[in-house]
Amino acid sequence: MSKLIMSMSGVRGIVGESLTPEIVQNIALAFGTYVGKGPIILGGDTRPSYDMIHSTVVGALLSVGIDIIDIGQVPTPTVQQMIKFYKAKGGIVITASHNPIIWNGIKLMSGLGSFLNEEEHRDFMEVYDKQLFNLKSWDNIGSITKDTQAITKHVDIILDTIDVDSIKNKKLKVLVDVNNGTGALANPELLSRLGVEFDILNSDPKQPFAHNPEPVKDNLVELQKAMKQGNYDIGFAQDADADRLVIIDEQGRFIGEDYSLAYCIDYLLRFESGKNKKVVVNLSTSRVIEDISSLHNAETIYTKIGESNVTEGLRENQATVGGEGNGGVIYPRVGWGRDSLVGIVVALKHLAESNCPVSEVVSTYPSYIMSREKISVDNRDDINQFLSKIELLFEGNKLDRQDGVKVIFDDSWVHVRPSNTEPIIRIFVEAPNQEIVDGLLTKIATIK
Ligand code: MG
Repeated sequence: MSKLIMSMSGVRGIVGESLTPEIVQNIALAFGTYVGKGPIILGGDTRPSYDMIHSTVVGALLSVGIDIIDIGQVPTPTVQQMIKFYKAKGGIVITASHNPIIWNGIKLMSGLGSFLNEEEHRDFMEVYDKQLFNLKSWDNIGSITKDTQAITKHVDIILDTIDVDSIKNKKLKVLVDVNNGTGALANPELLSRLGVEFDILNSDPKQPFAHNPEPVKDNLVELQKAMKQGNYDIGFAQDADADRLVIIDEQGRFIGEDYSLAYCIDYLLRFESGKNKKVVVNLSTSRVIEDISSLHNAETIYTKIGESNVTEGLRENQATVGGEGNGGVIYPRVGWGRDSLVGIVVALKHLAESNCPVSEVVSTYPSYIMSREKISVDNRDDINQFLSKIELLFEGNKLDRQDGVKVIFDDSWVHVRPSNTEPIIRIFVEAPNQEIVDGLLTKIATIK
């Protein structure tokens, strides 16, 4: 039996194995009971298991008296926007995000349109664990309303917030690999309204994913090749629920998740002319963000890993922009979550207004090499022991203990933290060259 992964961002499991109808039902019953009163926005990605999970969620929510606004198969950020639009009390997204097609899951959103924070998640888990569901009598069960125009509303909100005139006159040529995911539903409308010329790879949301949905270099071979063959100004790839975005430059080169985020943040800090500019990213995000923020006199604030921690940090600090180093832009003027549609608009504005190819802009950014390793552990004691040894090994250096241990040097860093979902310790090392990365990894390897 495969493992069910439960975390702050919801639940993920393999359909027919760990993600059973019973688990889906209990999550929805618990969430409806925890929220208490609707409406709840319900949407999901394009996986073939959508209908099965959707039916189960609908029955459960109705039975605890929740009114549902069902917006169908849409990007995750569309659900987040519709929570605000309808002043709903929360949202459920049926998705396993970037996981392969055999997976599905549920993301839970608060009334703010963001992931539950730690306190909210604890309250929800208490209902789930105790299974004290607030089942209603026949005359108090919930109702369903459908909205098939949610993506149009989402695009309206983005275009009402961000001035896109500079994009419209440039005749930009864009290629996007949506991998038959929810980007296939949203991008044509967004890109048409931006007035760009575009082609879409893997554009049928009724087909299975054309490749592994995680938007990393090895999964984007077709896109990189098509970029090289066509005469495109920029390429994009999204994950299945279109919260993450990565950029391919005009020469067909994958610029990396962190550098995709950097390209967007660079533009927004230039554009936001206010003082006290702040950027919020998680602790494992590349130093390139801090370098670019410093150039624009913006402060960089680091949070624990997890989108809900980054959005909490953005709210508390009234920050300009944020994100996670996996290619997710969070722009609070539009919403409290990673939104690839916002990322596409911002990247196209950068391209249009800089009058400079993506590769040239990115070549001015400091270059870093990041290594991501993991080691298996047996239990919590092993994790604590390993973290103590790391602290000892790097004694005298600047440490951040918000989430595991991060050791901070002048132009490099080491971040060691336990995974929230698996019995492993993640080791991230970043430095300006491979030699320093290898040196730090060799030093860590001396820990037994
Ligand atoms: Mg995702």
